[in-house]
Amino acid sequence: MPVERSLENIEKCLCMQCPSYTYHCKMKNAAENFLQLMEDFPHQQHYEKLFCAYEPSNCLRQRYGCLCSICEVSKKYNLRRQSYCLYAGGQ
Ligand code: SF4
Ligand code: SF4
Repeated sequence: MPVERSLENIEKCLCMQCPSYTYHCKMKNAAENFLQLMEDFPHQQHYEKLFCAYEPSNCLRQRYGCLCSICEVSKKYNLRRQSYCLYAGGQ
């Protein structure tokens, strides 16, 4: 079952707390992420969080750890991969 692009899942996503989500990318993406939440985010192709439901990041480039395996979204959808920010469909 594909991961739903819902507000509930965005809130549960742990990417922002992950060491791979660099300070630089947090600063760069914060405003755009916020604006997208005000728009029709479920139908957008890209979002800089909840990467398991969207496409990989345009900013994150390196893995310094991954929290996907302990994420509630991962458990809910029985996801078996990680690093969705770096690889389409995860690693
Ligand atoms: S599985 Fe990873 S990308 Fe998907 S919501 Fe959880 S932390 Fe975010
Ligand atoms: S997909 Fe995994 S590695 Fe990437 S930011 Fe989210 S928790 Fe971290």
